[in-house]
Amino acid sequence: MNRIKKIYQIIYKAYGPQGWWPLTERYRFIPVHKGKKPSTKQIKFEIIIGAILTQNTAWKNVEKALIELNKRRLLDIKKLKSLPANKLGAIIKPSGYYNQKAKKIKAMIEFLELGKDVNRENLLSIWGIGPETADSILLYAYEQPFFVIDAYTKRIFSRLGLAHKNASYKELQKMFHKALPKDVEMFKEYHALLVEHGKRYCRIKPLCEECVLRRECNYAK
Ligand code: SF4
Repeated sequence: MNRIKKIYQIIYKAYGPQGWWPLTERYRFIPVHKGKKPSTKQIKFEIIIGAILTQNTAWKNVEKALIELNKRRLLDIKKLKSLPANKLGAIIKPSGYYNQKAKKIKAMIEFLELGKDVNRENLLSIWGIGPETADSILLYAYEQPFFVIDAYTKRIFSRLGLAHKNASYKELQKMFHKALPKDVEMFKEYHALLVEHGKRYCRIKPLCEECVLRRECNYAK
């Protein structure tokens, strides 16, 4: 078994299924981790909004912004379309970079309304949408096998000694695509588990002594 699969098995065994993407249930405000399938347009839309809100911030801040949107029943493409960008910015303020994110949400809505194919090339052509956001949308909302690379993935895999610390998004994604079967559920779970691992142990100041990956890790040796 290659080391990338082995790492997955270790962290899956340690933390269990993560239930990503967190989604809001009916008559509730707080998104919950239940691993619900993106079977409706509304679910896809919520994932898309969450993927934009999570740029450069922790999920707990995204959650606060989503709660504010939910309280106002604004997690709806038509309602968000008619809401001025400055008002949207004020509501999503807890997620940080809120004016920029409001504009990105507006640009995304414009794109979705065109009815174009939601593919990587088209997503990357939208203002403010980079590879991590595009791949999060493709993987979690459209169930396409694009491995999502984020800051946790970079940090963990460079410390493990499996990637160079300056490896690009493209290089890291290629490494995962080569090592793993094209399994959407596994890609979803692996990404979520890496987020969990980064939060629990592989922090900026890592807790190597207690880490489940210490035997696999160059940094800890
Ligand atoms: S052993 Fe330390 S550096 Fe390695 S993955 Fe665990 S927390 Fe990160």
